Amino acid sequence: MPEQRPNIVFIMSDDHAAHAMSCYAASGEYPAINSTPNLDRLAAGGMRFGHCYCTNSICAPSRATILTGTYNHVNGVTTLAAKLDGRQVTFPKLLQAAGYQTALFGKWHLGHGGVHDPTGFDEWKVLPGQGLYHNPELIDPTGTSVYPGYVTDIITDLSLDWLERRDRARPFCLLVHHKAPHRSWEPDERHATMYEDIDIPEPVTFNDDYEHRAKAAAAARMRVDRDLNQRDLKRPVPEGLTPEQEKSWKYQRYIKDYLRCIASIDDNVGRLLDYLDAQGLTENTIVIYTSDQGFFLGDHGWFDKRFMYEESLRMPFLMRYPAEIAAGSVCDQIILNVDFPETFLDYAGLPVPETFQGVSFRPLCRGKTPAGWQTSLYYRYWMHLANHYVYAHYGVRTTRYKLIYYYADALGQPGTVDERKEPEWELFDLERDPRELFSVYGDPAYADVVRDLRVELRRLQLQVGDTPYPGEQ
Ligand code: CA
Repeated sequence: MPEQRPNIVFIMSDDHAAHAMSCYAASGEYPAINSTPNLDRLAAGGMRFGHCYCTNSICAPSRATILTGTYNHVNGVTTLAAKLDGRQVTFPKLLQAAGYQTALFGKWHLGHGGVHDPTGFDEWKVLPGQGLYHNPELIDPTGTSVYPGYVTDIITDLSLDWLERRDRARPFCLLVHHKAPHRSWEPDERHATMYEDIDIPEPVTFNDDYEHRAKAAAAARMRVDRDLNQRDLKRPVPEGLTPEQEKSWKYQRYIKDYLRCIASIDDNVGRLLDYLDAQGLTENTIVIYTSDQGFFLGDHGWFDKRFMYEESLRMPFLMRYPAEIAAGSVCDQIILNVDFPETFLDYAGLPVPETFQGVSFRPLCRGKTPAGWQTSLYYRYWMHLANHYVYAHYGVRTTRYKLIYYYADALGQPGTVDERKEPEWELFDLERDPRELFSVYGDPAYADVVRDLRVELRRLQLQVGDTPYPGEQ
């Protein structure tokens, strides 16, 4: 009997915000700032998820969650400094044990050597740490080699080569994990002059003054006008500009290189989709495009991520599987990165281990919302004052509200600064204030909402086995 289990191609980029994809512009929430025809092709052939969220908006922690199906206090990767202990159960291991061919190419960022090397893959080649855009080194079980060329092309070449060599009698699971469009936003030659003659529109919150929120927003060091460095900008700031002109100039430098890196990803996604078409694999292959978290594209005057604010919290998530997902469909239910591995196992017909903490969203893919589907999520960012000086916080988002608690303490986390700040709460009414510019935490009209959300926050926190901040006020 021919093999019926679906193949899985899981493409994940690094720091690609949903609002830098033209298929997401269709929702009207953000203006279109670029064109991504191949990602749009994937969306048109499958489902676009409008409310996919990460449980911690930072690279290694999100990746650990996706592999293990657990929150960061469980898998141990709470910060960038933490490494994944590969002895944990991961979805690639389970697929491999069930007869799937498995491979990983590209970004790993979960440590190297001993128990930190990738596990559960028949073949892997990964960038050391963040890796390089041009002529990158890649590590595999036999050592380290330099690959001439541009990183996004190379990762795709390796993926296509592996697909070509696969055993055609067995299903496969391929992880294509791009480095781009992570800082330092270095485009390839083919896209180097793209957008040269146009201005990318500035977001509506570009000149945010950080009033009406907890102190964390003003304290963060990720401002376009102040915190981009020469390596980011790649050319000297012109002389004689007013501060406003200089901020706009820096934004254009930043966003154009970011979008150029995405244009290369889009081309390479097209190459993979073409291969699947040519091989007759499209019908029985699940193709996913996502990113490890979102990103601020000048929103709130920022670049980077980390905050529980929407542009950083939200992940793009496209999924195509013609056998089961209606072409051009949209899902507005909440799904989380911790739900990905359960969903993959569901499609492979495998039981989900008890240690996994998410839930399969396969019913949503079929256009059915199960009774009692999740309407809230728990988030925690642990890296107090690390890198961009963002305060540690946790919170809850429901379909309408978002409650954030900046407990603002390192609590002994590695790679963080042990300097406690004053704890503060924020509450946003996303229906009235979708850009999160005005916290209504202290507004008596929202007292009942705050009370209910604090109960929900505690419920979720206990459900996933995390610990409230001692002395939460
Ligand atoms: Ca990232």
